[in-house]
Amino acid sequence: PLPKHIDTNKILEKISPQKDVDGFSAINVGKLTSGLADGFVPCTPLGVMRLLEEYSVQIAGKNAVVLGRSNIVGKPMASLLLNADATVTIAHSKTKNLKQLCADADILVAAVGRTHFVNADMVKEGAVVIDVGINRGEDGKLRGDVDFDAVAPKCSLITPVPGGVGPMTIAMLLSNTIKSAKNRLKQRA
Ligand code: NDP
Repeated sequence: PLPKHIDTNKILEKISPQKDVDGFSAINVGKLTSGLADGFVPCTPLGVMRLLEEYSVQIAGKNAVVLGRSNIVGKPMASLLLNADATVTIAHSKTKNLKQLCADADILVAAVGRTHFVNADMVKEGAVVIDVGINRGEDGKLRGDVDFDAVAPKCSLITPVPGGVGPMTIAMLLSNTIKSAKNRLKQRA
């Protein structure tokens, strides 16, 4: 996040695509949506894909719903799931019939930034639920976008907050940084 008087896009344009380790530049966004593997993918959705892979979640042919359409999470998350052959729906604040959409999802990724937005009625039995949300309550505690205690009994897999997607984001940032450094070394050689 940048101070309000600074135009985020202007700053992003100044970052070399080769060092753009959170995959924000138009070049890296284009590579992701084109399914090209040599660009940088935003760390949070990349971490989600790594989690899905680690737990052998089958994505191809699955009905995936991404709640949220930000450039940092929702849109790249949807692109990655689409590239992995899921049928993807992106939902946002203007989406109608949101509860039913979520309840039909085999894979539900919540990135809305609202505490416990996803409740048990919105989740299909056996669904995989990924909670990206990090919301700090007045009591100082971190909570996700998913009501974990209510939703977990219905899920085949679910990520907690904290300790789920957050650490994966950090790991992917390191991974992308190493990838960038290695690319640079290759160019020099
Ligand atoms: P944004 O505020 O940029 O985007 C939120 C999205 O949620 C928007 O697309 C918005 O819709 C949608 N939304 C908001 N309210 C509703 C609603 N009532 N119904 C349906 N959709 C709604 O947030 P970010 O994507 O940056 O972050 C989302 C959450 O993920 C936050 O809690 C953030 O802290 C967390 N986060 C966690 C990370 C991690 O490492 N775990 C990394 C990055 C973010 P619209 O576009 O129509 O306004």
